[in-house]
Amino acid sequence: MKACLLRSIAPIEQNPLELVEAPTPQPTENQVLVKVSACGVCRTDLHVIEGELPRQILPIIPGHQIISRIEQTGAQVTSLKIGDRVGIPWLHQTCGQCEYCRDGKENLCENAMFTGWLINGGYAEYAVAPAAFVYPIPEIFSDEEAAPLLCAGIIGFRSMRLSGITGPSPGKRLGIYGFGAAAHIAIQVARHWSVDVYAFTRDARHQQLAYELGAVWAGGSNDEPSVKLDSAIIFAPAGELVIAALKVLKKGGCVALGGIHMSQIPPIDYQLLYHERVVRSVANNTRQDGLDFLRVAAEIPIKTQVQLFDLVEVNAALNALKHDAMRGAAVILI
Ligand SMILES: [Zn+2]
Ligand SMILES: [Zn+2]
Repeated sequence: MKACLLRSIAPIEQNPLELVEAPTPQPTENQVLVKVSACGVCRTDLHVIEGELPRQILPIIPGHQIISRIEQTGAQVTSLKIGDRVGIPWLHQTCGQCEYCRDGKENLCENAMFTGWLINGGYAEYAVAPAAFVYPIPEIFSDEEAAPLLCAGIIGFRSMRLSGITGPSPGKRLGIYGFGAAAHIAIQVARHWSVDVYAFTRDARHQQLAYELGAVWAGGSNDEPSVKLDSAIIFAPAGELVIAALKVLKKGGCVALGGIHMSQIPPIDYQLLYHERVVRSVANNTRQDGLDFLRVAAEIPIKTQVQLFDLVEVNAALNALKHDAMRGAAVILI
């Protein structure tokens, strides 16, 4: 099969992904083999490629927002059949046995595997995944529309929940820092729940997209709206935004950090945190987060804005993402 392979860590400007002929994987008894049709591009791919995560398996095929059809099922798989359309997300597999798994926190599993980081992902013609960890994709979405839902969408949804917005909340105010793929989906859920969204991004095109999607306010990262906010989510990997977000939060407000990697957070003046403001990170997601999000996404229905690329253009798509040149989400068509 054709695949985009990362052999060694390098800045994305050096175009480190190589299009190669690789062996087609074979499913074990609990896995499915899928033919990939689309794979969404995520900032986490950049962290993988540029070596910003604590461990890295090499060589690796990145890509963890996979829309695909089942080509073959392992001997023990009964829940899925050949031809079914499924999504393979970031959370590839958990152990089901550690204290976190037993406590309903499989996103924190001690032995979790992650697609496109520790296990080969979707920048390839075929991939394998455990049948218990793939999602049925609502029919209302095309392959390319659905791809960004699988990480940008699900992680954005969990970030919103952890920031304190868990359902319809008329009049609540949510700040979103960084207005890329995750934000452009999260804002649609927030608007669906009657939440007022404040978009913090220095990029004029991203501010415009925020307004088009229903933001009540858009400004720069250090601007302060005239009202205080209930919650904030930081999607951009810049630690100084934690300070900026705390400055605009109400008492008791929460800022959720949606990324897997962030630059150092500067010292926080205790007065910014006092009055029970909360800073919390978001790590991965549970399968239930994914199922809940996909149901809400189909109900709305969420419209993702995608820029399409071919498999030979994954480096180009990631370069564009790194340099803020993407409107909405990048998706690789395979
Ligand atoms: Zn576990
Ligand atoms: Zn991701």
